[in-house]
Amino acid sequence: MTTVAPFKNQHLSYSRLSRFETCPLSYRLHYIEKQQAEPGLPLRFGKTIHAVLERLIKEVVDDERTGPLSEERAIELYREAWGAERLTGMDVFAEGLAILRRFIAEQGVVDHRDVLAIEKEFRLPVGPFEVLGFIDRVDWIDDEAVEVIDYKTNHQLFTRDEVDTSLQMSLYEVAVRRLWPWAKKVKLTFWMLRHGVRQVTTRTEEQLADALAYVETLGRQTETATAYPARLNTNCSYCDHRKQCPAYADALKGKREFIVEDLVAVVAVAAERVEPARGLRRRVRLRPWRLDGGRLCGRRLRSRPRHLAGSAARRRRGPPHLLRRPPPPCSHPPSSLHSGQHRSRWCPASTARHRPPCRSPVRAARRRSRNGCSAHTRRATYR
Ligand code: SF4
Repeated sequence: MTTVAPFKNQHLSYSRLSRFETCPLSYRLHYIEKQQAEPGLPLRFGKTIHAVLERLIKEVVDDERTGPLSEERAIELYREAWGAERLTGMDVFAEGLAILRRFIAEQGVVDHRDVLAIEKEFRLPVGPFEVLGFIDRVDWIDDEAVEVIDYKTNHQLFTRDEVDTSLQMSLYEVAVRRLWPWAKKVKLTFWMLRHGVRQVTTRTEEQLADALAYVETLGRQTETATAYPARLNTNCSYCDHRKQCPAYADALKGKREFIVEDLVAVVAVAAERVEPARGLRRRVRLRPWRLDGGRLCGRRLRSRPRHLAGSAARRRRGPPHLLRRPPPPCSHPPSSLHSGQHRSRWCPASTARHRPPCRSPVRAARRRSRNGCSAHTRRATYR
């Protein structure tokens, strides 16, 4: 543990405070000793994507345009930013292109009048400190509301807790309220670019006051600390001072058993992060049923294919051509008999595929009562 003299912050920022919270040693190396930082690939990649999005939207605002964003222009800007950051790697390059294409599709039409600010600088007086920050984007929603957007290229989604207690978003809201005093409501959005998900939150007055009190306390801590211990964490491999960190070197050499000290928390957080993605998948799986039946089916899609369900269920559903399983490919040689109205007579595979819908009202009623859902029954029977 190293002891150093207290120092004075020129200003505070979210990244400063977050660095101190995550690992005091990293803070000392970066801000007090001002050692050369070596940002890893994720940081440089994130910076590249941010630069492209910033310029893409800024051009729309500067030209006073309204319409969809140009994919060609985005790729051009991406290539420039990629070169400036001296990035390499085909897979990473392709990932960036995919992120930009998804962003353009999700963004849809941009009206230059809706964008209030891009990379907006703010300076907030908090106690004896000044907090400096830059907001990626602020959009107008209506005469009483604005949306703060922060682009993220994280691999993992935030947990609900992380979104609702994010200090970064609390500071942005305080700044936005001072910059646009007419905004009574502020929507705070993390735009998760890799996932195509927007994680949205809001703050109460009480939460904002708590956040400012915390900033002041943490700011004082950064100046009065007498020790800056290393705190190994899940982001050590991305740390821009990992090469100057003895704790990380020890961990790599195997002197420490675990890189992450609190394994229970890591497992819990990982489980919670998976949840939003599961929810999205579930919604996507349900949608075909709603569309296919022409009405809301109300049933969840089975996780197992119908033909693999229990034997009693198989008996109830009747002969195999009623199953949803596709018929085997036809092995009959092409001939004049193997087409048109003769098809069903000569080819069992084609029979299953082209069997005309049964119009018997008795059988239809029986099927409905068995399955309880006519949309479901139609689909299972006639495919
Ligand atoms: S590698 Fe980890 S422990 Fe070392 S300075 Fe960076 S964040 Fe701290």
